[in-house]
Amino acid sequence: MALKLAHFPAVKELAGFDFEAQPSIDPKQIRDLAASRWIANGENVLLLGPPGVGKTHLSIALGREAILAGYTVQFTTATTLVAGMAKAHGERRLDEKLLALAKPKLLIVDELGYLPLEPDAARLFFQLVSRRYETGAMLITSNRSVAEWGTVFADPVVATAIVDRLLHHSHVLTIRGDSYRLRAKRKSGLIKPPTAGDGPPVGSASLRREATIKRHHEPDGGGSSS
Ligand code: ADP
Ligand code: MG
Repeated sequence: MALKLAHFPAVKELAGFDFEAQPSIDPKQIRDLAASRWIANGENVLLLGPPGVGKTHLSIALGREAILAGYTVQFTTATTLVAGMAKAHGERRLDEKLLALAKPKLLIVDELGYLPLEPDAARLFFQLVSRRYETGAMLITSNRSVAEWGTVFADPVVATAIVDRLLHHSHVLTIRGDSYRLRAKRKSGLIKPPTAGDGPPVGSASLRREATIKRHHEPDGGGSSS
């Protein structure tokens, strides 16, 4: 029942995740997160990395673990989420919508950053993040580094306010490497390995900036990677 309510787009479990294929992820950190203490504490998890590295897989798997631990979970994509909020806003029932989005102990927002948000949408997203801040956990996946969220949210001031709240008590996992989807094809020589120019959007310069933001938030002690 709880699994149905969560609206996961697929069945993905931690048991099915090949950690050896993904050396940039620390299995211990994932097992730690699977214990769901971060959800009890209203902390956030950010899974960042290029397409195909397992962000959605891990977010569903961690969501399932949360449900097994007794927490309510809702899965959505950034696009669906802001479209729903914009619609509610237009119908003058944004308060009602925010209330509903504040209910699940864990809200998973997949695919933030594939499409940049309009300023209005970014402000709606900010309202959601403020509402859930320190009370409800969020798991966000993005193909953009946090330093690039200024462009995702159109407005750098709103982006900073969002990032500030999200990172305050957070676990940030940056996944690197090639798409798992294309691995098999690459191995059999069907497609060429990526060249330097095809690098992931999570660039090293932006990662350095991100590390600076993370250090800035360190004193809270709330996250293993914050
Ligand atoms: P992303 O969300 O990062 O774009 P996905 O989580 O959708 O990537 O992964 C793409 C596909 O590859 C999915 O079917 C997923 O189950 C699978 N996959 C990715 N990484 C792994 C892995 N390390 N072990 C097993 N399956 C993986
Ligand atoms: Mg995905």
